[in-house]
Amino acid sequence: MTLQCPKCTSRAIRPSNYKTGWERLLAMGFRHPFRCKHCGHRFFEFATKDQRKSMFERGILAKAEQAFAVLHSEF
Ligand SMILES: [Zn+2]
Repeated sequence: MTLQCPKCTSRAIRPSNYKTGWERLLAMGFRHPFRCKHCGHRFFEFATKDQRKSMFERGILAKAEQAFAVLHSEF
């Protein structure tokens, strides 16, 4: 999988920093912020397969599921 800007389709993408706690939560759900070097568009994209694998191995998936379960029960 190659990351690509959804706006200009450039492949010059770099990871972007998290701005809010909500974005960190999204990251636990395997969505990460990226910024296009070409047009500056900021977007979320699913992590790569390898990134998911490493997160899974570190037990983050279980924590993310717990977090989402808590969110779900609160709303
Ligand atoms: Zn772009």
